[in-house]
This record gives sequence, C-alpha cells and structure tokens, in this order.
Amino acid sequence: MNRAEVVVCGAGLAGISTAFHLAVRRNVGDVLLVDPRPPLTLTSDKSTECYRNWWPSEPMVRFMNRSIDLLEELAVETDNVFGLNRRGYLFVTARPDQIDEWIEQGEKIAGFGAGAVRIHRDRHPQVTMPPSTGFEGVPDGIDVLVGSALHHVFGWVAPDAVAGMWVRRAGWLSAQQLGAVMLDRARGAGVRTMRAAVEGVEVQAGRVSAVVLDGDERIACSTLVNAAGPMLKEVGAMVGVDLPVHCEAHHKVAFRDRLGAFPREAPMTILADPQTLDWDPEERRHLAEEGREDLLGELPRFCHGRPEGGSGSPWVLALWEYRREVVDPPVFPMPEDPLYPEVVIRGMARLVPAMGRYRDALPETVVDGGYYTKTGENLPLIGPAGPDGHFVCGALSGYGVMAAAAAGDLCAGWIVGDGLPDYASVFHPEKRSARLASLDIGDTGQL
Ligand SMILES: Cc1cc2nc3c(=O)[nH]c(=O)nc-3n(C[C@H](O)[C@H](O)[C@H](O)COP(=O)(O)OP(=O)(O)OC[C@H]3O[C@@H](n4cnc5c(N)ncnc54)[C@H](O)[C@@H]3O)c2cc1C
Repeated sequence: MNRAEVVVCGAGLAGISTAFHLAVRRNVGDVLLVDPRPPLTLTSDKSTECYRNWWPSEPMVRFMNRSIDLLEELAVETDNVFGLNRRGYLFVTARPDQIDEWIEQGEKIAGFGAGAVRIHRDRHPQVTMPPSTGFEGVPDGIDVLVGSALHHVFGWVAPDAVAGMWVRRAGWLSAQQLGAVMLDRARGAGVRTMRAAVEGVEVQAGRVSAVVLDGDERIACSTLVNAAGPMLKEVGAMVGVDLPVHCEAHHKVAFRDRLGAFPREAPMTILADPQTLDWDPEERRHLAEEGREDLLGELPRFCHGRPEGGSGSPWVLALWEYRREVVDPPVFPMPEDPLYPEVVIRGMARLVPAMGRYRDALPETVVDGGYYTKTGENLPLIGPAGPDGHFVCGALSGYGVMAAAAAGDLCAGWIVGDGLPDYASVFHPEKRSARLASLDIGDTGQL
C-alpha cells in the first residue's frame, strides 16, 4: 500500500494552499494532493477573483487582513505574476439614508483593523487613484464620497447616485496564476499529486489510518485534509462528521464590451440598492407568460462588475445573484438561467448608464459559475473535526480566492500544532458555536 504523511483531498485553492503552507512554509515533506479533476477546475477558476478586507465581523477582518498580507508577500516574491492590484470596491447608492449607515458601520469595521474612514463632501476630494496593477502606496480603509465628490472621481456612475463607499484594501488578481504559483512551489518542496477521488476513509482506534481511492487503491496516512469544496459534506460523511454547509449556485457573465461602455479604470463596482428592471410592456407580458414573474418585481441589491484584462482588453465581468438558489447536494452541470446575461447587463445599466446602450443588442457573452459552499453565518470551517487526524479546510463561500492564503495557513497551523490566531476558534468546525454566540455576526458580508 502507498503511504503519505498527509493526504489533501481536493486540488482547488483551499487544498493547494494547505499543501503549500504545509510543505513550503512548514517543511512537512510527505504531502499527497488527490483530485479526480485537473487542479483548480471545479470552482476555483470560476470566480471574479476579487478581494477585500472590508467585512462586517472582527474575525473575518482579521482573517482577510492576514490573507492579503500573505498574498502581498507572495506577490513581492514572484514579481507579482498573479497580477494583484488594489483598485478597490466601489459601492454606489442613490439612497441618502445609506450614507450614515456606511459611516456608522465603517467606524465599527475600522475598529476591527480594516483601516480608517475618510468622508469627502468637497467637490474636489483628495483621493489618489490606484495604479492598474500593484498595491504599494494605496491606503486601506474607506473613502466615503458624498454627492459631487463621487461624480468628480467616478464621473461615469448613475447621475442620481448620492454617494459611493470606496473600499481601498481591495481589488483583484489572477486566481489561476495564484493557484499555479502555490502548486509549483508545493511540488518543488516535495508535494505529490494524483488524479483520483477519495471514496472512503479508514479509521483505527479513533484516528485516520488510510484513504481509499477510486479503483480501490489505498493510501496509508495519519492525516487527511478535507478540502473538497462543494463536496465537503460528502467527504465529511466518510468520517462520520456532519458538516453544517449548503451549496448555493452562483453565476457570472463575461461580455465583450464592444461599445466601450464600462470604464477600463473602474474599481469593482457594486450597486448597493435593490432595483426593479425597466422592462417595456411587451417584455413584461412575455416574461409573465413564461412564468418569470420573479424578474418583474424588486430585485436584490449588489449587482456588480469589473473590467477584466489590461487597458486594451474589451472584457467585463458582471454578477448578480438575484435568485440565491440552494442546490443540495450540488449537481453538475449547474442549473442555469437562460436570461442571466440580459438581466445582469440591464442591472448594470442602473449603475453605469452607458451600459444601457446594449438594451436592444446584447454583447457577446459567456456564462459560467459554481457553488458557494457555505455555513449559515457565511464563516469558513477550518480545523479538526471527527476522528484524530481529520481536518477541514472549506466552506469558503464567495471569498475562497481572497481567503485561500490564510485558510491554508490556518489549516496547516492546526495540523502541525503551530501557534494559532485568535480567530481560529470561530472557524473551528465543531467548537465554533460557543464563540459564535458572543459575536455580532448580523450581516454576513456576502455580495
Ligand atoms: C461565480 C463565483 C464568483 C466568485 N467570486 C469570488 C471572488 O471574487 N473572490 C473570492 O475570493 N472568491 C470568489 N468565489 C469563491 C471561490 O471561487 C471559492 O470559494 C473557492 O474557489 C473555493 O475553493 P475550494 O478549493 O474550497 O473548492 P474547489 O475549487 O471547488 O475545489 C474542490 C476540489 O475538491 C475536489 N474533490 C471533491 N470531492 C473529492 C473527492 N471525493 N476526492 C478528491 N477530490 C475531491 C474537486 O474535484 C475540486 O477540484 C466565487 C465563486 C463563484 C462560483
């Protein structure tokens, strides 16, 4: 029988990062990464690849700050091959009451360590535009741009917008390149990879002793990391653990912006308000006939998008989860909404009016998506669960790219018994409920 000290089940960003942190940062020599799919091809290559340290609870702010510190360190070491930028997230509102809410919530989040709140009410606010790539010299915290301050800096947002909240320790990167860098380095430090599915786990005297792969191959090991993404629950059940996660379908549309409607220098831009789409009477009748009344009333907030690629690229990514569909257990291929591209592009026009020029002639679009594997509180599960030697690194919901570095680091810390950060207990798969009760989670921070 083959052997490994640690078997990592799942070669998405969570599993790759755990293998990387074990082998490269903690000198654990004998790690085997097992997945029936090519690395990064289930969920980790479907994301919008964005990151932010602006989260509504202290553990998440501290966790994301740690992750972004690690990403920045790796970017410096690799000459930024994964294109980390700090162009920010711009939340836009047409509701005046949102401004005080942002400021009040901002002071609270600033207190968690996310950076200062700066409020700009002048016509010409003192804000620095970030470079298109790189992150040095860009502040953290938020700039709240009120009235003409918003329109001076971002002249292309809807004219009736009354304010914008620009989150600064935020931006995007290439998730595939990030995964490839960590995988390369992990391999260089001795991590082996294998194309196979974990189908069973053997436990002896309360400790993991082997995994059984498809084809009945067995690998003796004393440690198993469950980083199975949407199959977290299924793999947990192999060791008798019922992980409290569900899967939510999320899509994104990429479109070729042939009219140059979406500005190339834009941050990740998000409509903070709910909206009702302006279908014409004929379209409304048609949608009602098709049983799509769900698209006729008020749709939720957070329609969002960003430019993809350099200044010469025509591509834009946009997302809007107006359905929040739970699919448990997850099915592949995922359920799709044929109207998704049109709904999202119309939604984006409320935020960036120039996008309304696509109303009668949609651009060329490509839709893909994956599952947000998440807990009810939208906090991750990282740490030991069930028999000795079984660790979980998952439930990374819609933030697994930005969190991957800190998630792998934390999971590796649990495995080798390193000093753990104070947020570790909140994400502990089995003992977290005691800590959750003392936290004001409220808003889950999901877009
Ligand atoms: C539309 C969309 C947009 C998103 N946008 C962002 C964003 O902007 N920023 C951000 O940070 N995050 C974003 N995310 C979330 C992010 O993509 C995920 O949180 C992250 O990719 C999860 O990584 P993972 O490694 O946990 O899961 P996965 O990437 O799904 O990897 C799990 C792996 O486990 C393997 N596996 C499963 N079962 C077994 C088994 N029995 N044996 C062996 N292997 C197994 C699978 O084959 C798979 O390769 C987005 C997600 C979606 C869907």
